[in-house]
Amino acid sequence: MERTFIMVKPDGVQRGLVGEVIQRLECKGFTLVGLKQLTVSRELAESHYAVHKERPFFKSLVEFITSGPVVASVWEGDGVVASARKLIGATNPLTAEPGTIRGDFGVSIGRNLIHGSDAIETAQSEVALWFEDGELSSWKPSITPWIYED
Ligand code: UDP
Repeated sequence: MERTFIMVKPDGVQRGLVGEVIQRLECKGFTLVGLKQLTVSRELAESHYAVHKERPFFKSLVEFITSGPVVASVWEGDGVVASARKLIGATNPLTAEPGTIRGDFGVSIGRNLIHGSDAIETAQSEVALWFEDGELSSWKPSITPWIYED
């Protein structure tokens, strides 16, 4: 089953949006398979955002992500990578559609509340970067037949 990595960033944690994010993903029908709060080290932040190393916002992004606790999670479901990106909304909250998490709760690109993996391969490497195998639970919710047709 497809998995994705979702992180509530320090601004989302400070603003008390952890429950809101979890609720939106649960209500959609996705399954939570891993969850933890942590304060991110510089090393982990730089690895996670390595693709943006040469970008002008890299330094402030790393400062921001390491500035307070984040809530990291792994979610499972059919098409979860692309669907979670839709639930999250566009990178800039000011232009993100209302009804998306960023569109409903943010106004600034440097405070866009949440991260979600952008592709299946990225999701696999981000899950491995943030979680040990033993921190993830493989389980099938008993309501599965009410979420998926056979
Ligand atoms: N970011 C920023 N300024 C920018 C572009 C991006 O601070 O001009 C930050 C923002 O937190 C964003 C992250 O860098 O979420 C990663 O950027 P990406 O383009 O991968 O956006 P995402 O996949 O998070 O929507």
